[in-house]
Amino acid sequence: MATVASPSSKVARPQIRQTQCFIGGKWVPAASGKTFDTIHPATEEVIAQVAEGDKEDIDAAVDAARAQFDGGEWSRMDARERGRLMYKLADLIEAEADELAAIETLDNGKPIKDAKAADIPLVIQCLRYYAGWADKIQGATIPVDGEVFCYTRREPVGVVGQIIPWNFPALMVAWKWGPALAAGCTIVMKPAEQTPLSCLRMARLAQKAGIPDGVINVVPGYGPTAGAALVEHPGVDKIAFTGEGATAKIIQRAAADTVKRLTFELGGKSPNIIFDDADMELAIDGSHSGLFFNQGQCCCAGSRLYVQSKAYDSVVERLVKLSEDRKVGDPFDPDTEQGPQVDQAQFDKILKYVDFGKADGANLATGGARCGSQGYFVEPTVFTDVQDDMRIAREEIFGPVLSVLKFDDVDEIAKRANDTDFGLAAAVWTRDISKAHRLAAKLRAGTVWVNCYNQFDSAAPFGGFKASGIGRELGEEGLAAYTENKTVTVKLG
Ligand code: NDP
Repeated sequence: MATVASPSSKVARPQIRQTQCFIGGKWVPAASGKTFDTIHPATEEVIAQVAEGDKEDIDAAVDAARAQFDGGEWSRMDARERGRLMYKLADLIEAEADELAAIETLDNGKPIKDAKAADIPLVIQCLRYYAGWADKIQGATIPVDGEVFCYTRREPVGVVGQIIPWNFPALMVAWKWGPALAAGCTIVMKPAEQTPLSCLRMARLAQKAGIPDGVINVVPGYGPTAGAALVEHPGVDKIAFTGEGATAKIIQRAAADTVKRLTFELGGKSPNIIFDDADMELAIDGSHSGLFFNQGQCCCAGSRLYVQSKAYDSVVERLVKLSEDRKVGDPFDPDTEQGPQVDQAQFDKILKYVDFGKADGANLATGGARCGSQGYFVEPTVFTDVQDDMRIAREEIFGPVLSVLKFDDVDEIAKRANDTDFGLAAAVWTRDISKAHRLAAKLRAGTVWVNCYNQFDSAAPFGGFKASGIGRELGEEGLAAYTENKTVTVKLG
């Protein structure tokens, strides 16, 4: 059974320097003077007090972003120069990569190994990818009837409000800032209350890179106050949100009054399908990390694992062994594979779902309890003999809890995999490439991985079908979501 490793941290704790609101290029306390604690989830110790922004701070931030957009240099700057400043930001992040990874581990609790190998490199890649787009945003000439010259211009959508969650704090900043900056938008960001620190550090680096004041504004605070004020603000043209479906519905309703553009990246209950003919070592390792990576706190986690019946028993046996061998503990220990959940609420939610699994008749093959006595550690948990209608097979748990289900044939599996409100990701493991492509076409999900999981690239669009979202992030489509397409028609004399 996994145990919490001794807290013998081998990585230096980062310095926390930015804890205030960043508005119009200045670091300012919340207008109310209020702060909130951000904590280290492994020890529950308070790391820092962060400014608790609210409506007044959002108003000031939107004013700064609006003034920069309407009258400042950012959207008028040569596009290539915008790109150059974004490359500079990526370079500064790369130079501070270890420090930023440590901030991520401190604030979120994710293993330092993952922060260094995945989160921060992907941040840098994303900013560079979109920096390259800045001078390649082009319109078209349109062959309309008559003596008329018709063309389109791709223009920035304006001031964008960006609301992000706590599971990949720095990476969500890059996914949101990258396309917005390349397009020439200005930004007011509200990071998650659990994890504001890397976003604030990145704002400092953006200023150091030379991105003009007012282009990026950050207001830490709570969703129902600061977040809601941003959504309702008439000076904001678009909201980009990542988080829970229930929050998205509140945002969609509130944004209706000002007809804001919306892009949503929401949750999932992604089916992960292993066929008898798969490369089993690859499939089992990939399925294990496809769920347990980031403590299971991934919107695209492969949380419904369907295994074809002939392979079922041996796959389950090896998955249970991998889970029991998983190294859970101090996230600053470079060998740690699983850190704590982000906070008490997530910890409680996960254990509640373990109870649901047991009550609904699933077999708890391993895990299912708290790990250690301090911090929000949960044992890597595997439920087998799960049925499609059980809550652990239908609802997003967002934790290290794998539900394993059995299936018999390919016709049955597409129907069962699609029988969900969600549609973010799916995966297929098989050596039969025709079967893989046929199934990939049938699966109602924004991303289908074949013989891999969590394979991300800034160039490849990501987002959800159905209740998993609206629009796409990353790639060219992610950029287009930060532009308005203007048609110019000229009557030729
Ligand atoms: P939320 O959707 O509540 O939070 C995401 C962001 O939205 C945070 O910045 C939050 O602020 C903000 N927010 C909350 N309420 C409002 C509002 N009324 N108006 C504007 N902004 C708001 O998710 P949680 O963090 O509470 O996590 C709950 C569940 O959501 C998880 O268990 C998981 O299932 C799912 N989730 C999905 C994610 C994904 O990537 N798809 C990511 C994170 C969570 P603040 O937190 O600061 O109050």
